Amino acid sequence: MSTADSISATLSLHGLRQTPMRRAVLEALRAAPYALSSHDLEQQLDPSTDRITLYRTLRTFEQKGVIHRVVGTTDIVRYAACAPSACTEHAHTDDHVHFKCTACQQTYCLDQITVPAVQLPPGFRAQTRDYLLSGVCERCQPAQ
Ligand SMILES: [Zn+2]
Ligand SMILES: [Zn+2]
Repeated sequence: MSTADSISATLSLHGLRQTPMRRAVLEALRAAPYALSSHDLEQQLDPSTDRITLYRTLRTFEQKGVIHRVVGTTDIVRYAACAPSACTEHAHTDDHVHFKCTACQQTYCLDQITVPAVQLPPGFRAQTRDYLLSGVCERCQPAQ
């Protein structure tokens, strides 16, 4: 499936109308190897992009499970596209580990690594699972 087709498929799967903004935002997030902030997105999208529409698009995508927030070590909110395999019509799972690189400062989704089960004390009920590791990413490893 081409990129354009897979973007159309994701939008229609979530009952979203195909607008140029939605297509552009999802395409940018899918193409990025790491999570992007709304500021990063503004830099990548057409300069005429309306910031309010961008924020609204991100909020809609998040509510629909097209993208997810990536927690970092700062207050900046970053977003990543959910792996197409994590999105089905009926279920959505985002229980993967995130990795913050202390060299390039980017945060990566490690989609293939599931957050390990955590045994909570009685009386505690978790609602979200944010699992962040930090260190040096593969791009920033010193040459062998
Ligand atoms: Zn790095
Ligand atoms: Zn992620």
